[in-house]
Amino acid sequence: MQEIKSTCCYCGVGCGVLIQTEHGRITGVRGDPDHPANFGRLCTKGSTLHLTAREEKLSARALHPELRTNRQQKRCQTSWDIALDHIAQKFADTIQQHGPDSVAFYISGQLLTEDYYVFNKLAKGLIGTNNVDTNSRLCMSSAVAGYKATLGADAPPTCYEDIDHAACLFIAGSNTAYAHPILFRRIEDAKARNPELKIIVVDPRRTDTAQSADLFLPIQPGTDVALFNAMLHVLLWDGMVDMAYINAHTTGFEELRETVRDYSPKMVSDICGVPEADIITAAKWFGAGPTLSMY
Ligand code: SF4
Repeated sequence: MQEIKSTCCYCGVGCGVLIQTEHGRITGVRGDPDHPANFGRLCTKGSTLHLTAREEKLSARALHPELRTNRQQKRCQTSWDIALDHIAQKFADTIQQHGPDSVAFYISGQLLTEDYYVFNKLAKGLIGTNNVDTNSRLCMSSAVAGYKATLGADAPPTCYEDIDHAACLFIAGSNTAYAHPILFRRIEDAKARNPELKIIVVDPRRTDTAQSADLFLPIQPGTDVALFNAMLHVLLWDGMVDMAYINAHTTGFEELRETVRDYSPKMVSDICGVPEADIITAAKWFGAGPTLSMY
């Protein structure tokens, strides 16, 4: 039996796995004890990863190209040569008749960086269209826009170890317990080690994550920005903002101060549908820090 190091492909926690193989076949999987994301733990999804490679499951997977020349036909297995020639001819005919912007590629978010490069080169460099996209853009575009606007780069400046050093975790709109279970185990461990750790969960849904919160803010959908503005309003009012840092490292703070001036907890309580006192508590816990915000 051999073990090969890899990464669980299901969610963004990025748990390390050891894939067990015998005679060229996948037989099992276990958590990689040396991997810093999970230290050997796996959730149900990760620990059943190897089952997707089982013989009886393979019939449900796309292992060969299939082709039909009109929608009424049944798709039939075909060779890669025929499939690729067919696609190339269809693209060529369409481009010749209607120009390069008449075709598009919508590719998988699970591809590797190199695969993206090749598809982008094909679309932009060879065909001459910008019509190439993936589901990863729909998934992350607002986050990327936010990171670039606020931090100057598309990368959150934090890491999993920060959970162990935080005094407050502010979780907005994420059901971490369900969606990122191994990360949530880490949060539970941190809470067990330090019962003083404050967990604030903001979510219109009463999720499993919300059950574990010290403070749960079940806001009305779409009112999160008003809540954040109110929290900053409280922090400014109470002098809990590090102005030396802000003056040295940020721009536009005066405009932000003007924006949040009207967002009193009382006014925002009506918008968000949560008690004023809870908004104030959330702001104070957040400001006392060190706080890690997650979404
Ligand atoms: S938390 Fe579960 S699904 Fe996510 S990477 Fe880890 S094992 Fe995979």
